[in-house]
Amino acid sequence: MGVPRGHPVVRSFLGAPLLDRMAQVRGGLLLGHREPGQFTRDDEALLVGLAAQAAVALENAQLYRLAQRRAQELNAIFESIADGVTVMDHQRTIVRENGAARRLREQLKDTPEGERVVEALLYTPARHALNGKAVEDLPLSVVDSHNETREYLVNATPLRLLTTGPLSQKNDTMNTPQNGVFGAVVTWHDATERRLQEAEHQAQAYASQLEAIFEAMTDGVFVYDRHGSIVQVNTAARRLLALDVVPDYTARPLEERIALLDMRDTQGQSLPRGTSAPARLLKGEVLTGANALEVQVRALDGREVQVSIGGAPLWGQEGRITGAVTTFRDMSERHRLEQLERRIHAETEARRALLQMILDELPSSVYLVHGSDARLILANRASATVWGASWPPGQPMDEFLREHGIRVFGMDGLALAPEQLATLRAVRDGEMVYQHQEVIRHSDGTSMHVLVNAVALDLHHLFSSTVDATKPLAEGTEPAALVVHQDVSAMKEAERLKDEFIAIAAHELRNPLAVLKSYAQALLFQARRGRGYELADWQKEALQNIDLATHRLVDLTEELLDVTRLQAGQLALHAEPTDLVALTRRVAARLQVTSERHPIAIHAAQEHIVAEADPLRIEQVLGNLITNAIKYSPEGGRIDLTLREDPQADTVELYVEDQGIGIPAHQQARIFGRFERADNARKIDGTGLGLYICRALVEQHGGRIWFESVEDQGSTFFIALPMDQAVVPSI
Ligand code: ADP
Repeated sequence: MGVPRGHPVVRSFLGAPLLDRMAQVRGGLLLGHREPGQFTRDDEALLVGLAAQAAVALENAQLYRLAQRRAQELNAIFESIADGVTVMDHQRTIVRENGAARRLREQLKDTPEGERVVEALLYTPARHALNGKAVEDLPLSVVDSHNETREYLVNATPLRLLTTGPLSQKNDTMNTPQNGVFGAVVTWHDATERRLQEAEHQAQAYASQLEAIFEAMTDGVFVYDRHGSIVQVNTAARRLLALDVVPDYTARPLEERIALLDMRDTQGQSLPRGTSAPARLLKGEVLTGANALEVQVRALDGREVQVSIGGAPLWGQEGRITGAVTTFRDMSERHRLEQLERRIHAETEARRALLQMILDELPSSVYLVHGSDARLILANRASATVWGASWPPGQPMDEFLREHGIRVFGMDGLALAPEQLATLRAVRDGEMVYQHQEVIRHSDGTSMHVLVNAVALDLHHLFSSTVDATKPLAEGTEPAALVVHQDVSAMKEAERLKDEFIAIAAHELRNPLAVLKSYAQALLFQARRGRGYELADWQKEALQNIDLATHRLVDLTEELLDVTRLQAGQLALHAEPTDLVALTRRVAARLQVTSERHPIAIHAAQEHIVAEADPLRIEQVLGNLITNAIKYSPEGGRIDLTLREDPQADTVELYVEDQGIGIPAHQQARIFGRFERADNARKIDGTGLGLYICRALVEQHGGRIWFESVEDQGSTFFIALPMDQAVVPSI
């Protein structure tokens, strides 16, 4: 190692390295002496100690530089924070504050409210923080020196001593309060800009909504400034008036624009100058509702359009008119629709009147009802005659009948309950009621026999395609019915006269027939005994035929008499306890002699079965059924008679079963009617009265008669009679 020039020659060296904490060499200390061997152990120890001291000093100098740099950085950051930050000690003295905080505080000092505001912004939150309670986002409005309102969010955080770690100041508690809080940091965040931005966003959203509404409006809309120049026009207006045909139309002066559209009043007179809608609005007039202007304009493509112009002035904040808005509504389409509606209405009315006229001319009563309470829709004139009162549309049937004291009876003479009336059955159950016989009794005591046909209708479906669907005759899908009443009083009267005639004829026939019968039988008797002249064979045969024919005539007149009695309700029963088994044996024995090809078998569950019945009439019924069984089994065949009691129903049942021609299915429903005969029985003698009388007699006993039959296989007729007295008194 070289020795500087002029420096005494060094003969001995003592050196020590400078080591940092990481044992890295940072430098060294070197001692020299002119003489060799001059350094002692103590010198060496001293040098090593000095080197250690120098290493620490070196490291401290480096740390200090670093700390200074950090402090400068932090200071710069602290100053550059946009929010105001103030640090206070526990006595609420400002220890530090950044530029933003300082500026605001100084600004506030100049305002009249300054002190109070600083108190609210700074000292009060600081007090909270010093008490250990943080303040978060406390909103405050401050009026600054420029008289502008600013919004601040204030936060205050307590500064606490660290109680652990290398920086804890366990020994430095002398000057700090008890709760460990030695200061507070208060920040003010200026939220004014954010609020303003939010408000601006909202305003923008609102404006775009208005824009969308403006464009979506079906009415044309014009916005004018206070000179009448167009500021804005929507698409509907452009379309309605074909504004795009004249490219600079909206830029032209008001009077020129009015002239281009050739505005006229409803009489076709041009509007005088200065009376256009914008002109009037800009003078402060409001054109809404009845004040709207009805004008005729020629759109720029030459179309004539009727418009209704409404509008209002736009008022500025100072109460001055800053512009106006007008709306143009196209009335041509509405006028056309109104005309169309009037025409359709007139046509519908005419059609309805024609229909009413046709209905009124019909001799039968016709009416239409709807709803489950049968409210009237329409009725013809004859309907008032049938009811003896006029039924107002909309009134429920029940109410109408009650109001006018009208009563309706069935053919059995009993009053019909509402649910039995043909009309109500049709609307309530959708039933098709045909040829239902009813007697209508008016409040004045007169009555009318009617045949009712009631047809359930799907009115909604029926009318929705023919008339205005928005005004259905009946709401929704309510049931409806068309009801026709035919006055059959005259027919009934003719029938009554006919019955009367038959009754008289049958009655009058009885005596001569009895005479005829007795003479024929006397002659036959005499001839058999050989008294008087010997008769030729043909004469005997003729006499027998006369006897048979009178027999049948007597039966026929008896049947006719029974029918007329039944019709008049004059057939009286003489009921008594009757042994039906004995009765059946008697009738079977009497009829068995008339045919050998039809063996009659009796099956009785008991020896005696007794029921309360008129024996003669039950004999008549049973006789008729057995005669039919024989008659309608032309090929012969067994006839089974069965008797049994049904204790559960408290009835006696009697069956007559044959293997004859049967009754065709389609004619079975009517076979108990008067003069009803099946087609397959035409070749066999008969009147069609027997079953009619049988049913009336059985029902008068309170019993029931029915049958089962298959054509070409046979029939079984059933009678059920009550065991106890149940005879219905004749009416
Ligand atoms: P009539 O026998 O005089 O014609 P009824 O009133 O006794 O009158 O019977 C009415 C009709 O019923 C008959 O014409 C016939 O068509 C049918 N009928 C009645 N009983 C029978 C039966 N046992 N078998 C087949 N058809 C019958």
